[in-house]
Amino acid sequence: MSGFDVQQFRSQFTFFQLQPDWVYLDNAATMHKPKAVTDAVQRFYQQQNSNVHRGAHQLSQRATTEFEQARDIVASFINAKHRHEIIFTSGATAALNQIAFGLMHTVLQPGDRILLTQLEHHANIVPWQLHCQRHGIHIDVVPLNSSLQLDLAAYQQLLLQKPKVVSFSHVSNVLGHIQPVQQMVAMAKAAGAITVIDGAQGVVYQQPDMQQLDCDFYVFSGHKIYGPTGTGVLYGKTALLEQLTPLLAGGEMIEQVSFVNTTFNKLPFRLEAGTPNIAGVIGLGAALQWIQQYNNNDLIQHKSLLLKAFFSGLAQIKGVDILSMPVHNAGIVALNVDSEHPSDVAAMLDQQQVAVRSGQHCAMPLFSYLARPGAVRCAFAAYNTLDDVNRCLLALEQAVEILTA
Ligand code: PMP
Repeated sequence: MSGFDVQQFRSQFTFFQLQPDWVYLDNAATMHKPKAVTDAVQRFYQQQNSNVHRGAHQLSQRATTEFEQARDIVASFINAKHRHEIIFTSGATAALNQIAFGLMHTVLQPGDRILLTQLEHHANIVPWQLHCQRHGIHIDVVPLNSSLQLDLAAYQQLLLQKPKVVSFSHVSNVLGHIQPVQQMVAMAKAAGAITVIDGAQGVVYQQPDMQQLDCDFYVFSGHKIYGPTGTGVLYGKTALLEQLTPLLAGGEMIEQVSFVNTTFNKLPFRLEAGTPNIAGVIGLGAALQWIQQYNNNDLIQHKSLLLKAFFSGLAQIKGVDILSMPVHNAGIVALNVDSEHPSDVAAMLDQQQVAVRSGQHCAMPLFSYLARPGAVRCAFAAYNTLDDVNRCLLALEQAVEILTA
């Protein structure tokens, strides 16, 4: 039996104590932070506040130690083989931009192909497109099947075209569907492709194991896993990280600079130009340490209970069109109400203090495919309760009544 106590878990988030009336279901956009994280960030600014890797004084040395400890925490959290394979970025977007830019100048050549999927976030489309168009590289797209899961037979066919890079999300930020990443990586590797996983929504669902998954790159944002905004992780295998052309250049990432030439620092610093988000990274370390007190299977089970209750409640509300599938779902439900605009539905929920997101969720190609103007997205986190589910259902029922009257 699960020993998970949602009230104990929730009590660690100051937000819910200060704002008890809110039902927060916008977790796929960003999550609330436990006190362990806000305390770590505050303590850094109040008691240390020094730059890293360069100070002659003890405060800077202590900041460096804590910052580098966060790297160890991340490396161990995702079971990376080496700590230098963890590059801190400002988020998943920055990490994907670094990978696309970095490969484009070294590995990818005109005429090459890269493979994306129909349900990618713009952050895993546009950075590729920006360079592909300029360098004559072709983008192919894995289609969806009728259950809005990736069509693996079509994926296998597209792999026959020998793409140099295959990049896909671990969990869809719109539908919540969990992709069979282990299988997809194995298939891509058998076809000789470099594999990139956008783990922005996946990392909080299932602690990924880099050595087991064996992907070449995995990226995520700190703020979607209880950490501060402006933090992110680019994991990459050493040999590939060494081939990436740095997207950002400046201090920290160099070894020798003259007006004629520059030689670069070793990993991870080579890809971390400028002063990093020191307090944020320390906060991210605190977030990952904090969440590891809990058994992830308990969190998964709790979220699946919420999801089950939500889906069965939705089935009772006339006019609700659910896009997401209840199976292989990480806790995100995209829905529409008849032909009402999703932002009208979200505005009515907001009046009931139910926070959801509406629109196309940075996934326009998915909505073109679905032929819908957008959707309302309810994204559950482990701190949500059955009461949150019921309040959202009630607010939706009222919204349907008013909008369709
Ligand atoms: N990929 C996915 C799947 C996402 O959900 C998001 C955030 N919505 C991103 C990438 C980009 O993350 P960020 O804005 O934190 O860089």
